[in-house]
Amino acid sequence: MKIRYAAFVAIAIGLVVILFGLYPANTGQDATSRQINVEAKEVSDLSKDLQKNDEDWKELLTDEQYKVARQCGTEPPFSGKYYDFKGKGSYQCVCCGNVLFGSNSKYDSGSGWPSFWEAVNDSAITKIVDRSLGMVRTEIKCKKCDAHLGHVFEDGPEPTGLRYCVNSASLTFVPDTTEITEETDKKN
Ligand SMILES: [Zn+2]
Repeated sequence: MKIRYAAFVAIAIGLVVILFGLYPANTGQDATSRQINVEAKEVSDLSKDLQKNDEDWKELLTDEQYKVARQCGTEPPFSGKYYDFKGKGSYQCVCCGNVLFGSNSKYDSGSGWPSFWEAVNDSAITKIVDRSLGMVRTEIKCKKCDAHLGHVFEDGPEPTGLRYCVNSASLTFVPDTTEITEETDKKN
């Protein structure tokens, strides 16, 4: 009897030790996997514009915007809504809202397309060598969603000497307001 009792006590103690020993480890594991899920969700939020397919873009954009931004089209010169537009504000990607250009770098190049001598920052735009139509040009795309914007040439004004030649159809103009300026100042 004594041996059986001792064995029972030993097993009971063993079970208690195992249960209490495993409990914190399980909690830790849950916390870790929860964290990984949250991170994965944030990553997918960031790249959700890249996950849109052709049908999604067709629904979201006008025919002209779709043809230019998603199929590397070019609007006819002097036809877009921004080539002669002089509003103060920023120009965003028509597809994803990524801020690309500011009105302070817009100038009249005479080309018939909205022209800028610089982008808001280097990380907003991807530059790709384009050898189509028997020319070597540098295509510019939205870095966030891969929308075709236009081309960049080296015949722009100072201080950069660059001419970002952009289709109006790839852009959405957002006017500057006093509220936005104040908000930005507070954050800075
Ligand atoms: Zn974009």
